[in-house]
Amino acid sequence: MKHPPMRTCIGCQQIDEQRRLVRVVVDPQGEIAVSGRQMPGRGGYLHLRRECVTSAVKRGGMARSFRRAIRPMDVEELWHQMEKVTG
Ligand SMILES: [Zn+2]
Repeated sequence: MKHPPMRTCIGCQQIDEQRRLVRVVVDPQGEIAVSGRQMPGRGGYLHLRRECVTSAVKRGGMARSFRRAIRPMDVEELWHQMEKVTG
């Protein structure tokens, strides 16, 4: 029996099935991008929930995963992209 891949949300820190999480990465230009496929780069997984995005920033999970400071505009841009990915 095959188990689905599990990942940890960098916002709420809960482990969930990978398909229920959105992968976000920092591309080589240093921009935050939502990755549908496996994209190289530092990144983490997030639920498509505003509170997970917010707490990933507030608790420093996103800065740790991305190895750089997160600006408020990054959060808005990230949320915008996450909404686009899932329609
Ligand atoms: Zn979460």
